[in-house]
Amino acid sequence: MANSKYEYVKSFEVEDEVMPPNLIVVHIDGRDFRRFSEVHEFEKPNDEKALNLMNQCAMAVLEEYPDIVFSYGYGDEYSFVLKKTSKFYQRRSSKISSVVVSFFTSVYVTKWKEFFPLKELRYPPSFLSQIVCCASLEILQAYLAWRQRDCHVQNQYNTCFWELVKKGGKTEMEAQEILKYAKEQDRNELLHQQFGINYNGTLALFRQGTCIFKTEVEDIVKYNEDGTPVKRLRRKAGIFRSENIAGRRFWNAHASLLKELGNF
Ligand code: ATP
Ligand code: ATP
Ligand code: MG
Ligand code: MG
Ligand code: MG
Repeated sequence: MANSKYEYVKSFEVEDEVMPPNLIVVHIDGRDFRRFSEVHEFEKPNDEKALNLMNQCAMAVLEEYPDIVFSYGYGDEYSFVLKKTSKFYQRRSSKISSVVVSFFTSVYVTKWKEFFPLKELRYPPSFLSQIVCCASLEILQAYLAWRQRDCHVQNQYNTCFWELVKKGGKTEMEAQEILKYAKEQDRNELLHQQFGINYNGTLALFRQGTCIFKTEVEDIVKYNEDGTPVKRLRRKAGIFRSENIAGRRFWNAHASLLKELGNF
């Protein structure tokens, strides 16, 4: 209530502004998605439809909030990066975090039927959200490298685990025991020797995760009378993948990203 005797209570709100020039990252992760994926019978280790649903939700987030210029996700998590000069909700963590995660969650629920027409949504999923504050581009890239490393390690483990269980005739306990001391190279060899799988030949969607950001694309707006198309440049969110999203090659290949993020 503005201008009332109660207004002083507003001063009790927690101050949580992220100071510039820090980059604001919103990190969201499905709450107890181990259970959610079991109840909804996700394919193991990777349910492609569930991943595509996550990607569509992230795409919707980028279309909704123009200050978000980059995102990366895999499994049940996504990270959204705001441009450096963003003044979105006065840079207040709790506001940004809550609006992004609630929007993402409602899109997840509304789009569920599109991706799982034959599967009923058994209960309302929820996502946790937190703000990560990156003091420089280097720290943002280290953060992204960390998430992508996690994507790879989890995916490699899960791929081995489910091969051992589904095709190797092992129990879940036995598979866990076998993988306990296996290093990265051992796991690749196990896949190759026992199951004839070349890990690096599996889907990049599973191994590398997904980046979504906007680039300029040519859209046909209408056709002239003589049939020639009238084109216009439009910024549109698209999907990109790379083995190393923190590497120089990736950022050089998408030079406009740096400009979007804020003149590094
Ligand atoms: P928390 O609430 O702590 O995040 P969690 O169960 O969600 O608990 P995570 O570490 O986030 O734990 O792991 C996500 C879980 O969801 C994993 O067990 C993973 O196998 C499952 N999962 C998420 N997406 C998929 C998918 N597309 N296909 C198969 N399984 C998935
Ligand atoms: P902000 O994003 O700043 O919160 P807002 O439009 O949501 O913008 P509020 O001050 O929260 O602004 O006001 C909520 C608005 O939603 C009001 O305009 C109110 O009339 C409308 N509204 C909310 N619930 C109802 C309801 N049950 N019936 C009719 N109108 C409603
Ligand atoms: Mg989770
Ligand atoms: Mg997770
Ligand atoms: Mg409101």
